[in-house]
Amino acid sequence: MEIQFLGGAGEVGRSAFLLKDEKNLLLDYGVKVGTVKPEYPLVPGRVDACIVSHAHFDHSGALPTLYNHSLPVAFGTRPTLEFSELLIEDSLGISQKQHTGPAFTKGQIKSFVNKFVSYDYHVPLDFSNYEITFYDAGHIFGSAITLIENKRNGRRLVYTGDFKIAQQELQGSAEIVHSDILMVESTYATRSHPDRATTTKAFIEDVRETLDNGGVALVPCFAVGRAQEILAILYRNNLIDQTYLDGMAKKATDIALRHPEFVKDKQLLMSAMKNVTWVEDHQGRTTALDGPGIIVTTAGMLNGGPALHYVTRLSPQSKIMLTGYQVTGTNGRKLLDGRPLEIDNETRKIKNPAAYYDFSAHASTEDIYEYVRKSNPETVVCIHGDAENTESLAENLKTEGYDAYAPKLGDKLTTQF
Ligand SMILES: [Zn+2]
Ligand SMILES: [Zn+2]
Repeated sequence: MEIQFLGGAGEVGRSAFLLKDEKNLLLDYGVKVGTVKPEYPLVPGRVDACIVSHAHFDHSGALPTLYNHSLPVAFGTRPTLEFSELLIEDSLGISQKQHTGPAFTKGQIKSFVNKFVSYDYHVPLDFSNYEITFYDAGHIFGSAITLIENKRNGRRLVYTGDFKIAQQELQGSAEIVHSDILMVESTYATRSHPDRATTTKAFIEDVRETLDNGGVALVPCFAVGRAQEILAILYRNNLIDQTYLDGMAKKATDIALRHPEFVKDKQLLMSAMKNVTWVEDHQGRTTALDGPGIIVTTAGMLNGGPALHYVTRLSPQSKIMLTGYQVTGTNGRKLLDGRPLEIDNETRKIKNPAAYYDFSAHASTEDIYEYVRKSNPETVVCIHGDAENTESLAENLKTEGYDAYAPKLGDKLTTQF
């Protein structure tokens, strides 16, 4: 078998890996966001089917471009389908607004959705010479670790997608799957995350302090996963009554609630959603801004959505609390670096204090090594990390006796499968 690295090799974003055999199977087809223009993966040759590990845009965003002349079948979980459709449709709206021109049409999104066949975790599906099974990745609702088993010889290739072993409020641990070839995400291959309880404590203390000062805690969040985690944390800390929810996170939460079997603590999410105030219109936004209060809204890197409406209208007592990693070039990164923001083609200096809290849903360095050792492959392919991370992981794994490899964009790897 040959593995072609069309994206996500030596970089985070635009994950895209083509497994070439009798039939060609594509693992994810995402877009790199946050930079000036979205970056697409290399164009694959023939694709017979694609696996969608989870809905995040860096794994799903380019899928509709495949639905031009051919119509490959797509496999993933039900939440992955619904969240991808939401995020991809939203991206179409944004690119039209920004006149960057859509890379695909509404019709192509429809074709992708029509060709999507959903499977629950642990339910094997037959494709060509393979049996394919999804396992819980512990990253976001419906995120999957994919096992591809060759029916001819029993060899097992495992693609982790994005995963996390340490538990979150609404996600359990990633399931460890035994493999011969392991393709593992390396986002934080050289970094530990601070303990989740410590991060939560600091976050809650800062929220309370802002409320005590009469200000607004503006909490920009990614719509899928992070927003719901933050709401669960606010509920647990008796702060949900003072919390407003705005933007795409509302629709995303609806989808999560429709698939409770993919939520670790369904009751917790339901209680949080029952007690949060949903912002429905302009008046709602004005009320939320009056403070004291907490506003949970999209976009997580301040590159669009209602977060931009709020960020320029905050009272001096208010604070901006970023809950995810801020990619270089995004407004969120600029804010943390003390630089002015780009909003509607204008440069705006924001004076409110801003802080970053590491609520990462990715594997830490400890998680990655634990996964590799327990999965126990012969070959490890280190992907979804910048070159420094993937190369250092591969080097370390070689010293432990693994045949480890950190591919570059466009590389082809021939492997026994
Ligand atoms: Zn992800
Ligand atoms: Zn990712």
